[in-house]
Amino acid sequence: MEIVDVAVVGGGPAGSSAAREASERGLSVLLFDHAHPRRKACGGGLPVKGIEWMDAPDSAIECEMSSISFTYNKTKLKIPVNKGKLIRRDDWDFYLYNRAKEAGAGHVVERVKSLIFTDNIWTINEKYKAKYIIGADGVNGFTRRHFMEKISRDNLFAAAGYYLDIKPTENEVEFIVGALPGKEGYLWVFPKSDHYNIGYCYNAGTPGMKDALHKLMQERWPGEFVENSKWKLAETGEIIDCKQFGSAIPSYNDPKLFDIPVSGETWVLCGDAAGHVNPIHGEGLNHSVLGGRLAAKAVSKEDPTLFEKYWRSHYSRDMYRAASTKHKIYRSFFMRIGFALGRTPAMYGMLASLTRGDYEGKATRSFWVKLPLALLQATFGMKHKALKAIT
Ligand SMILES: Cc1cc2nc3c(=O)[nH]c(=O)nc-3n(C[C@H](O)[C@H](O)[C@H](O)COP(=O)(O)OP(=O)(O)OC[C@H]3O[C@@H](n4cnc5c(N)ncnc54)[C@H](O)[C@@H]3O)c2cc1C
Repeated sequence: MEIVDVAVVGGGPAGSSAAREASERGLSVLLFDHAHPRRKACGGGLPVKGIEWMDAPDSAIECEMSSISFTYNKTKLKIPVNKGKLIRRDDWDFYLYNRAKEAGAGHVVERVKSLIFTDNIWTINEKYKAKYIIGADGVNGFTRRHFMEKISRDNLFAAAGYYLDIKPTENEVEFIVGALPGKEGYLWVFPKSDHYNIGYCYNAGTPGMKDALHKLMQERWPGEFVENSKWKLAETGEIIDCKQFGSAIPSYNDPKLFDIPVSGETWVLCGDAAGHVNPIHGEGLNHSVLGGRLAAKAVSKEDPTLFEKYWRSHYSRDMYRAASTKHKIYRSFFMRIGFALGRTPAMYGMLASLTRGDYEGKATRSFWVKLPLALLQATFGMKHKALKAIT
């Protein structure tokens, strides 16, 4: 049996990106995934931040975001955007997977169930041989459990929702916080070409998440579940599809968890397997794609541990900052203050630039400079003109 340079376990955004990058760098690659094409449970929002890292052709795009809004109680901060995209995870993931194959990666339709290391060579499923392993099989998958400790429940979001078969009227991406006061997480409403993708994302084990989502559905589209996967609209009696999905997302509560190496001399983890998801909001697609490519780059230099340096120089700052502020940011007190300040003429522009991912300069410095004026404006209930039409 031929010994390939690298076996990539998992063909999601991280694994397919890694396999493609490794092939383009001249390595021989085997990409293992048993499930394609498959629709991974996901909101399918390609984060504005890092959109340039992601290869997303028009054929995989469901719609372009026209705005992103954050709602807390009755305050809504709506920000026009022109960068974010919404994809279907079956189409986009399959596209990335095929790109890896086109670049030369061999494809094995098998779930990886065993990894054995002897004489400096990995044997996969007792059959295939590789010098290096890139683990990209998602949160707490086989490679995470093989090479490291599992990510504990305390450091996971539970994320679940529905594909609600109602055509959106606007491409507004909504995040709703405070539905469960003081709890860490949010509800989302994402528009897709012919349906809404709606859901909740809270620390695993938070009580009341599903009820909070059902309450939101009642407010927006009054009705009830009549049978599995069907929602009956109260006004018209129409029964529409409302298929459920759900999974876990890494969400580190302690920045020190990011200090733990996710690589060794002959292996490296990336994407959800590495825990590389923003702990505040659970966006992971951007870090999966870039992380996969960086993991492949490290392997191409015959030193997977270089991944630690690469990912840290690209996206660790946001991760560490998010892990240390997550507990504060979701507190009711900070939410109230944040939304009262965010809507003022002094602060809204900065918030809008940060949301669009195009803020130039030091956000924290500008924040402190603008704060006194924003406080004054908040005291008098002043709103930025862009928000005046929104209740
Ligand atoms: C409900 C929900 C909503 C989300 N919404 C968003 C969002 O809107 N925007 C965003 O940026 N992020 C979102 N995320 C996070 C995002 O989905 C993940 O960060 C991303 O999918 C991670 O990509 P990955 O390639 O690391 O893993 P995955 O996408 O999980 O891919 C892992 C792949 O490995 C394969 N696999 C598993 N086990 C094995 C095995 N033993 N052998 C071989 N193959 C295996 C699987 O079949 C799969 O194809 C959401 C997550 C959830 C759960």
